Amino acid sequence: MPASLLEVFLDHARHAPARPLLSFEHTTFTRGQVAARVTAFARGLKARGLVPGDRVALFLENSDAFVVTWLGIQAAGCVAVLVNTAYRQVELAHILSDAEVKVCVTGTSGASELAPLRDQLPTLQWLITVEPPPPALPFTSVPFDTVLAEGAASTVPLPLPGAEDLAVLGYTSGTTGRSKGAMLQHRQLLANVRAVTEAWRWTDADRLLLTLPLFHTHGLMVGLHGTLFTGASVDLRRRFVAGEALASLHDDASLTLFFGVPTMYGRLLEESRRTGVKPRALRLWVSGSAPLSPQLCQDIQACFGARILERYGMTETLMNTTQPYEGERRPGTVGMPFPGQEARVVDVRTRKPLPSGETGEIEVRGPHVFTGYWRRPDATAEAFDADGWFRTGDLGEYDPDGFLRITGRARELIISGGFNIYPREVEEVLATHPAVAEAAVLGLPDPDFGEQVVAAVVVRAVHTESAREDPQALTQALVDWCRERLAAFKKPRRVVFVDALPRNALGKVQKHVLKERLLTP
Ligand code: ATP
Ligand code: MG
Repeated sequence: MPASLLEVFLDHARHAPARPLLSFEHTTFTRGQVAARVTAFARGLKARGLVPGDRVALFLENSDAFVVTWLGIQAAGCVAVLVNTAYRQVELAHILSDAEVKVCVTGTSGASELAPLRDQLPTLQWLITVEPPPPALPFTSVPFDTVLAEGAASTVPLPLPGAEDLAVLGYTSGTTGRSKGAMLQHRQLLANVRAVTEAWRWTDADRLLLTLPLFHTHGLMVGLHGTLFTGASVDLRRRFVAGEALASLHDDASLTLFFGVPTMYGRLLEESRRTGVKPRALRLWVSGSAPLSPQLCQDIQACFGARILERYGMTETLMNTTQPYEGERRPGTVGMPFPGQEARVVDVRTRKPLPSGETGEIEVRGPHVFTGYWRRPDATAEAFDADGWFRTGDLGEYDPDGFLRITGRARELIISGGFNIYPREVEEVLATHPAVAEAAVLGLPDPDFGEQVVAAVVVRAVHTESAREDPQALTQALVDWCRERLAAFKKPRRVVFVDALPRNALGKVQKHVLKERLLTP
């Protein structure tokens, strides 16, 4: 039994080294080429004094170098720390100091971003740069190619990591607060990729168009890992550009898989409507990371003839549930647990399991669930119960046929006058109003009710004029709209018109940021 995904990949590379694995910007790398570079990079890290358990950060855009460093860090027994490339000084200082990162692999702009943090990051010793470093960098920097060359000349042994060794500190997206480092062991990564590839019938005949960022679970632990585990191949892009992705999906008959977040599907659809270009039929389209609206799901089906498969996952647990590969993919639901994993819904107060049709917090258990939050025993203790169930912080319910529906985040639940209000329900109603482009609903303190329902609304371009001229009238119209469709206690008490909703780098609405804004006069 292999102990890690790395081991599985190295095995594939040994057995069929000439098979293509990865294409990136007009270059194709075989398994053997990638494996040789992974080994060289790992030896290069060791030659420069890194020891097992040391943290190495990846602050890097998608590229072949990302794949090599990701696996190379593991081959050296080190722990990878993934950093979103959109992060700037506040987030960088938080993550790199929290993880006590020793080395950071980055590009020109990443190095510039790190430069002013020299004094705040005493543990960060040097950078590995995949592009020329900026002038006057206050860190020692070593080119990626130099590390590879040094490693290629070294024969230092590379014992494979054990199943229980820490592979990665995955920092959560920071949608609900400061991001936390989820400790994931090799066995957890392996268990999840095995479950995902089995459920989705992924084989070495597949080829994935991967435009998701590799610094996030979706792109890395699903997209890249599934490819490595099955011995399939991947067409990796630096980033998602709707026009380019659509062109490839139309032209390239070798592609069989595409994974995206809902915003990407929205852009692909817009692009397709604008240009008339339609993708070929793929074996599988997957959406996740944020809720896919049933409307978008239907529009994609009507336009592309494809029924997207939606799945639900998170940094701490990787993939939890999936709509069935065969059988009904019920829109608005995230399906059932992956094979060998469990997911249940419990009452938020009593923590007792709830029957289908009742909303509570989703808890998950299984070999894919992380070990705990890095240096946050308090947060870890809070997150697990005595039987090993992990509290996801997401609210949901099972329908009578066993499909899980996510209804929001536990923290965002509004309790007003003793009633539970699920913001998503109100948001969905607001979104159907013709003047509304998007809406976020949250609870603000209220002396009488505890909390009151407040809606932040982005108005559609054609309605901005009227919203500016008579905000009162539009507010009333929106409140009435909700009142006609929902229980009275759920209607917004206040509507605030905003130009845009605050979103994190993955496009998720950051309600805590919105709340702060609405609370500051
Ligand atoms: P933080 O934990 O720092 O607040 P985050 O929870 O957004 O941030 P991630 O681990 O990247 O960080 O995201 C996981 C969350 O994304 C899940 O807990 C869930 O709320 C949401 N999510 C993932 N897939 C889906 C889906 N298919 N539908 C609805 N929500 C989803
Ligand atoms: Mg989370």
